[in-house]
Amino acid sequence: MSEETIFSKIIRQEIPTPLLYQDELVTAFRDIAPRVESHILIIPNKLIPTINDVEEEDELTLGRMITVAKKLAKEEGIDENGYRLIINCNRDGGQEVYHIHMHLLGGRALGPLVSV
Ligand code: AMP
Repeated sequence: MSEETIFSKIIRQEIPTPLLYQDELVTAFRDIAPRVESHILIIPNKLIPTINDVEEEDELTLGRMITVAKKLAKEEGIDENGYRLIINCNRDGGQEVYHIHMHLLGGRALGPLVSV
């Protein structure tokens, strides 16, 4: 059994974070510490700690995360100029919260993919 994170409380609205989107599979809300003008997190409602824990039965949910990203990018007005989707995995990937989340980042030119 995986340990819940703060994201499970946000999904259940036990922490009153404004939601940008929610359905039976995924939830989206703004990152609490935005790195760019538009910084949204899209997460599965099911607790999946990391990409390493994804199973075949999760494919619909992971696909939904992408279609929700597309919809929110349009709503944010960043779809034409462009944006970036990122999922970090484990320590070297820079993952801090162990409940899969896709970062939707945009609002300006984002520069190189990885800074070293
Ligand atoms: P990662 O490094 O990929 O695990 O990203 C975790 C992200 O979650 C960071 O960008 C945090 O700013 C964000 N975050 C942590 N707690 C909250 C919260 N309560 N509400 C919204 N975003 C959060």
